[in-house]
Amino acid sequence: NNKVQLATLCRHVRPLSSSSLPSHSKSYDVIVIGGGHAGTEAASASARTGARTLLLTQKISTLGELSCNPSIGGIGKGHLVREIDALQGVMGEVADASGIHFRMLNRRKGPAVRGPRGQMDRDLYKANMQDYLLRGVDLGVSGMENLEVLEASAEDLLLDEGDEIETLAPLADVGQSDASGEQRRLLQAKALSSAKANVANRRARIRGVVAIDSKTNARIEIESTTVVLTTGTFLRGVLMIGHDRYSGGRHLRDSEEVEPPSIGLALTLERFGFPLGRLKTGTPPRLDGRTIDWDRCNIQPSERPAQPFSHIRQSRGEEPPLAAANTLIDCYQTATNEATHKLVMDYAHLLPQYDGMDGKGNGPRYCPSIYKKVERFAERNSHNSFLEPEGLNTHVVYPNGMSGPYPEEIQLQIMRSMKGLEKVEIVRPGYDVEYDFVNPQALTHTLETKSIAGLYLAGQICGTTGYEEAGAQGIIAGANAGRAAGAAYRGEKAPLPFVLGRDEAYIGVLIDDLVTKGTLEPYRMFTSRAEYRISLRADNADLRLTRKGAEYGLVTDPERLAALDMRETLITDNVERLRNFKLFVTDWAVRGGNDLMGGAAIDRPGREGQKKSAEEVLGMPHVTLKEVEDIMADVSAEERNTNLDSNEGSSDEYEFCPTPSSAHDTVEASVKYKSYVIRQEKDIESWRKAQGARIPPNIIYDHSIMPTFSKEEIEKLNRFKPTTFAEASQISGLTPQSLVYLYHHVMKLN
Ligand code: FAD
Repeated sequence: NNKVQLATLCRHVRPLSSSSLPSHSKSYDVIVIGGGHAGTEAASASARTGARTLLLTQKISTLGELSCNPSIGGIGKGHLVREIDALQGVMGEVADASGIHFRMLNRRKGPAVRGPRGQMDRDLYKANMQDYLLRGVDLGVSGMENLEVLEASAEDLLLDEGDEIETLAPLADVGQSDASGEQRRLLQAKALSSAKANVANRRARIRGVVAIDSKTNARIEIESTTVVLTTGTFLRGVLMIGHDRYSGGRHLRDSEEVEPPSIGLALTLERFGFPLGRLKTGTPPRLDGRTIDWDRCNIQPSERPAQPFSHIRQSRGEEPPLAAANTLIDCYQTATNEATHKLVMDYAHLLPQYDGMDGKGNGPRYCPSIYKKVERFAERNSHNSFLEPEGLNTHVVYPNGMSGPYPEEIQLQIMRSMKGLEKVEIVRPGYDVEYDFVNPQALTHTLETKSIAGLYLAGQICGTTGYEEAGAQGIIAGANAGRAAGAAYRGEKAPLPFVLGRDEAYIGVLIDDLVTKGTLEPYRMFTSRAEYRISLRADNADLRLTRKGAEYGLVTDPERLAALDMRETLITDNVERLRNFKLFVTDWAVRGGNDLMGGAAIDRPGREGQKKSAEEVLGMPHVTLKEVEDIMADVSAEERNTNLDSNEGSSDEYEFCPTPSSAHDTVEASVKYKSYVIRQEKDIESWRKAQGARIPPNIIYDHSIMPTFSKEEIEKLNRFKPTTFAEASQISGLTPQSLVYLYHHVMKLN
């Protein structure tokens, strides 16, 4: 099978008849195609590694465009933004400078699942992103001197041809030799590995890009050692409203114009034998805020002060709103009702027919259209919708969760059925886009394609959805492309790949899921996808990644490393102080903490009785660092007074300062989760051992038996019926935690 696939590829890899094309005056180490969220991260990461980088994109004015929702972050996604930032990426800094509403989602839940989210002023986000990329040198942004931007449309890829496949080891012959079974197995394994080595040496290699320059309209060739492809929803994109279909990558926000789809590159990928599929996603109508009755909606204020995404801003003590926006606004909440749901179902026949999934379309399960929500959760008679202003200088409002590409007049009826929106006007109707994606199993963990050396893919083209998922892949692809090309340019041997493990980062989970399991529907990040989520928190992304980023040449700003050193010292010192500070039962009892101490010794006067360290007290359920430190402050003050009365010690010695805000969440989480981290490691270990164990064929997958499993997980287990745990772990959408539960469930059945 391997042989057949490679033979097909090599048949397709032929030099392009491009010799007559004028070539661009310069060649580059890396060309990044597409200036969306993946492309901007890839280009700046590559430039930071020192590689001469060209960002080639259809329209410079759309750099930093938020194609759908005007927000960055959220649960799981916020973790990705903090990780991108810990590697000196762009997204967090730009989001901080452009945000107008910030919230820490899941604040009342454990620190591991808290996700920072910011709502952006769309124009500011774009302007700040463009400043960063186009004027970064003047602004002193590290690495930007290596980056150029060209407005052009990539049409094809230039390749150096690989050797003929027939030169590979003849696998079939080995199988027919008269060697013994074991010998034959060994010979086959040896032949296979030498065949793989041959393929690695001989596979086709990227040489550059053929593009149409937007200014001159000329077709040009641009040479480069590596190429990163990040074309988002544009590959053979088709836009849809009702039964109207037209070609396009997306609608331009401020005009009637539709951005053209990327057809040439889709044909190129098809010609090179890449496994392509179709996915779809949708965006809701935009509303005129002046026609909304805000008094009938529930207010959702921003948090004040807000927490920044960027670690460097956090260390400088800067809090959004930052200079550029300088204002935080309120959002509002309304909801669908039975009348809305009736309209949604009554007009379902007017929804588009898609190419994928027998006309039903393969859309994001976790960001479903309003039709999907009403159909899937028939028992519910209401779904919330947050009304999010798109900026400080616009009346346009984004109704979150209300995508549904009905004809415009039906979209209007649906919106007007909701409270506060009875007289609303639509500024632009919502629409869906269906596009090609590449099965990410065609990629390695560096996001380089297995079949063409030097070609990397990142973003929506790999089957994901969301700005943050795109940016996370962009930074990895850009770093690896930059490092590989830089080494080739200097005549050095291939550098170590920059890969993050599942235990190091959500970025590692995302890429590992994609390249090992592939995806059949747009993949988005959730905390439940990470088996190490207790250690992979948004608050400690810098501790996990910044130093590694610096070792691989990706973190180049010395202020980041200094900030990291400072935070590490603060965290160690404050945890140690908790460990050494003894609290007596009575310290708790008088402050209502009696329940937490098992009801002991409430009647004991003075500071005596059972002692616990402040660290142990913080480790108890529902106790917060703030509560513990308030008591420590009181106790310190009491001791200080006693000692001052008896003239012992100086007053400074007993002065208590709470953990500074820049270290607060990390100190709290690392103490509270200490025992969970140990348990998590044990669980993972038992799961690793279970990989080869068999799952009985007659096992029943049903919610009544497995209540902790999601509907999706039950559905997929019934569909794929895995026979071993190794097979079960390949099912996309089955969380690591559920795999562990499944293991315990099967062990009990045995
Ligand atoms: P994009 O941001 O799409 O950027 C692609 C870039 O490549 C663009 O700049 C384009 O001009 C450029 N390009 C394309 N082809 C070429 C070429 N041949 N040559 C040069 N440049 C090229 N995300 C969600 O999380 N939830 C949603 O509900 C959601 N709904 C969406 C609805 C719509 C209608 C659209 C269009 C997008 C939606 N998104 C949604 C997706 C979100 O926009 C993407 O996940 C994110 O933008 C992907 O980033 P990217 O960098 O991969 O691609």
